[in-house]
Amino acid sequence: MEAARGAAPPLPRARERPRRADAIRAAIDRYGAGSHDARAPQGGLDELREIAVAFNEMAAALAEQRKGQLGILAGVAHDLRNPLAALKLTVDGLRPDRPLPCEERLRSMLARIGKEAARCDRMLTDLMDIARIEGGELDLRREARDARELARDVVELYRPTAHELRLSLPEEPVPLCCDPIRIEQVLNNLVANAIKYSPAGGAVQVTVARVGADVSIAVSDRGVGIAADDQRRLFERYFRAPSSSGVAPGVGLGLWAARRIAEAHGGRIEVTSAAGRGSTFTPQLPSASGAPPA
Ligand code: ADP
Repeated sequence: MEAARGAAPPLPRARERPRRADAIRAAIDRYGAGSHDARAPQGGLDELREIAVAFNEMAAALAEQRKGQLGILAGVAHDLRNPLAALKLTVDGLRPDRPLPCEERLRSMLARIGKEAARCDRMLTDLMDIARIEGGELDLRREARDARELARDVVELYRPTAHELRLSLPEEPVPLCCDPIRIEQVLNNLVANAIKYSPAGGAVQVTVARVGADVSIAVSDRGVGIAADDQRRLFERYFRAPSSSGVAPGVGLGLWAARRIAEAHGGRIEVTSAAGRGSTFTPQLPSASGAPPA
């Protein structure tokens, strides 16, 4: 008995092998037909067992991914309900069978409707973008642009916010060769986040600068900040830091898309943040004119 301990176990008898191959095949067929809990029998110690184990591992990984996707869908549906409920409530106050409120109140209701509609729009745009970017469809339409103009446009877009938006620009032009729509999308996302994750009235600072051969566009806030452990995962798809997910609705796709866009331009996005003190997100993109004169 002692001598047999290290010896290779005997292979399954030849006539068992076709039966096990059939059982593996049947599991794969059931899986293909939609039974996502189908698993192959893992008996024996030969290559059929290896195939069965590999199939089961793949099926388990797919089941995990599917669970994640369903969770995301449920999260998005849940987050969309908040702005939609606010919209419904506000529109209810403007029903034709009721007298119209005074002009001041009407304006504030319309502003609310616009804000909530923009929120829904952003969440859906984020979701649609993921499909486009994942499908490798990020073809850039580059143009010569001044980074100061791009930053100015984005800040103006968010001007009617309850936050104090500050813009700091160098005197000289800051040339970029970029897809302006995509870079504005990155800046939009960073400014929207800075507003979303900081209290009303807080300052949001946008600073354009030349740093060596790069252009940097820093967006800073003094909001909830991000814990050091979470900072590592910020650019993962669907990641939302626990400290901020209760603060504002979101999908966790904006930063993922922003990084893909910055990288497609040959750049990157840097982050510095301290929990409870605020964050700075800085896209760094290659300048169109290389390093500035010394
Ligand atoms: P979303 O805001 O839709 O969740 P993003 O991809 O834009 O998705 O951001 C991912 C996560 O990063 C956010 O959920 C939040 O946890 C964190 N985050 C992003 N920007 C900030 C910020 N300025 N301050 C604090 N947390 C932020």
